[in-house]
Amino acid sequence: MAAKYSSKINKIRSFALILVFAGIIIMYLGLFFQSSPLLMTLFMLLGFLAIIGSTVTYFWIGMLSTKTVQVMCPNCERTTKVLGRVDACMYCDEPLTMDKSLEGKEFDEAYNHKKK
Ligand SMILES: [Zn+2]
Repeated sequence: MAAKYSSKINKIRSFALILVFAGIIIMYLGLFFQSSPLLMTLFMLLGFLAIIGSTVTYFWIGMLSTKTVQVMCPNCERTTKVLGRVDACMYCDEPLTMDKSLEGKEFDEAYNHKKK
């Protein structure tokens, strides 16, 4: 049984979401350093950068989405997006492949990095 694997887009999306929260928390922490303008500015700046980073990540997801292929998942029968040679279903995490030669093989994300 292969380890549980989730769709790349889902992974990047949760990363972007974590960045937003991290940014907000860092900015909030900055409020505790009101006695030190330097520290407070530093925290605000870091928090701001995290939020900018998340915005960039969301743009990246948008770009990646144009490169995905829509397929019907054989497991849950919903339309999902596949990115690269191997990816997982966005809904049920069923491993999917675009490459017939990899069909039936154990799921490995490393297949995405192999050259043809
Ligand atoms: Zn599915």
